[in-house]
Amino acid sequence: MALRGKKPVIVLDGPAGAGKSSVGKEVAKRLGLPFLDTGAIYRAITLIMLRENITPMEPARLKERLASFSIGFAGGKVTACGEDVTAAIRTPEIDMEVSPYSAVCEVRSSILGIQRQGMSEGLVAEGRDMGTVVFPDADLKIFLTASPETRARRRYEERLGRGETPDYEEILELVNRRDAIDSGREIAPLVPACDAIYFDTTGFSFEEVVRGILEHTARLN
Ligand code: C5P
Repeated sequence: MALRGKKPVIVLDGPAGAGKSSVGKEVAKRLGLPFLDTGAIYRAITLIMLRENITPMEPARLKERLASFSIGFAGGKVTACGEDVTAAIRTPEIDMEVSPYSAVCEVRSSILGIQRQGMSEGLVAEGRDMGTVVFPDADLKIFLTASPETRARRRYEERLGRGETPDYEEILELVNRRDAIDSGREIAPLVPACDAIYFDTTGFSFEEVVRGILEHTARLN
């Protein structure tokens, strides 16, 4: 799909497992826009802090460490401070630990600039607070969700596909736990922006979701 005029900023927010990454990547590809996965940034931060024994209870240490934090996305890989962390940030351990780190004000403010870097060139960005905090003036805001069971099932199948032996009940519990922390935190909680389009993808195929978003994008031109 060809875009005319100014390159848009399109944001997808929503809970864990709603399909924001896979859908967002595909929408970005079809529109010829860069894709920004902000969950990967929080995951990479969590990985580094765990390794360096810096806990979410130490905002000053977090802030100091983040002053020299860098992240790169190229060729399908995620690098943090120069190291390839693509696989290391997708483990159950990081799933479990990431939400407490991302609830820390110093963590969120430290990476605002990183997230906004490419906005003048247009992009598709996914996360929890894209439409409310990071890109409040985005051209299109989508809040993508699905029932917790559907989201847990998708994560379960993703892991099966990677040759792992996941436990569905455990994934469902983790999805619910992360939702509770992400929605209940004081700073940048997971809520739809007041001007977001709410899209419940339960029962929709991947292609239907992508097309639904592209239809909204077509109205921007
Ligand atoms: O999207 P993903 O599951 O990779 O996100 C991992 C975690 O990062 C979320 O559970 C949330 O705690 C945090 N996050 C956030 N704000 C964003 C993106 C992710 O707080 N914009």
